[in-house]
Amino acid sequence: MTTYSVIAPIYNEAQNIPELYRRVRSVMEQTGESWELLLVDDGSTDGSTEQISELARQDSTVIPVIFARNFGHQIAVTAGLDFSRGEAVIIIDADLQDPPEVILDLIAKWREGYQVVYAVRSKRQGESWFKLFTAAAFYRIIRRITDVNIPMDTGDFRLMDRAVVNVLNSMRERHRFLRGMSVWVGFKQIGVEYERSARFAGETKYPLKKMVKFASDAITGFSYFPLQVAMYMGFVSAGISILAIPVVIALRLAGSQAFFGQASALIAVLFLGGVQLISLGVLGEYIGRLYDEAKNRPLYIVTQSPDERR
Ligand code: UDP
Ligand code: MG
Repeated sequence: MTTYSVIAPIYNEAQNIPELYRRVRSVMEQTGESWELLLVDDGSTDGSTEQISELARQDSTVIPVIFARNFGHQIAVTAGLDFSRGEAVIIIDADLQDPPEVILDLIAKWREGYQVVYAVRSKRQGESWFKLFTAAAFYRIIRRITDVNIPMDTGDFRLMDRAVVNVLNSMRERHRFLRGMSVWVGFKQIGVEYERSARFAGETKYPLKKMVKFASDAITGFSYFPLQVAMYMGFVSAGISILAIPVVIALRLAGSQAFFGQASALIAVLFLGGVQLISLGVLGEYIGRLYDEAKNRPLYIVTQSPDERR
């Protein structure tokens, strides 16, 4: 039986893999217990795939999971969870922004009996003000409008007990926000603070487009708030127009020329038209996700994996 599974999702991280492997190995050897390193290749095109296969040939603690194409970070982590065997499972970024040394702190809390130990970023180094600002705003909005109490400033860097992983593995939703899902399941949870480093090498694999998709998956996955906004706006504008009727009648009777003309009518029409289109778009976001679930396609396709494990 393996004690620890370490999962690293990899999308074009060729420059980081050797260092990741070296540091994870030296940390995990300090535990004196059995461990495995699942390297999930999320459709890399920079030679990461070959590196992973080569590492797995040399060292049987390295378990390769190779995707047929890029499916995205959250899906790559999901595949890692599916194929993991450890009693405790640790998720870590491959770019070494999450220092592998912190794993020992996570393990210490697990030994105390906690089943989800998430790492909280007390400081972030080497990131743009834009990333810091959008991340801070994101976690605060999520906390406000979702039904789960997702801890502030935590990423996917965390340790989860086998019991939790089994539950997560039974949740096959397509648009996945793992840090929300792992809170939603409950269990005994605790945070451990750490300083997030700069990337060891390479560029972020999260361009704005992926960040927006990630944020909308998080929000739609855990909240109806955007749908409800349409209703609130409807009540507000209906309320205003009802109040406006007697006001306009009174003004007319008093001989006032206010509110005559096209401009005010046009502005009102455009405003309401805009609100309606936005509401339709929000509805579309939810319907599109429903449609994706209905198709029931596999979450990912692997070309190489430890098949005997499933
Ligand atoms: N990643 C992935 N698939 C993707 C994008 C990212 O597997 O489509 C991996 C990436 O290789 C890294 C982790 O997810 O190990 C976090 O990505 P990144 O460091 O680029 O995000 P950031 O830290 O900038 O938010
Ligand atoms: Mg990173």
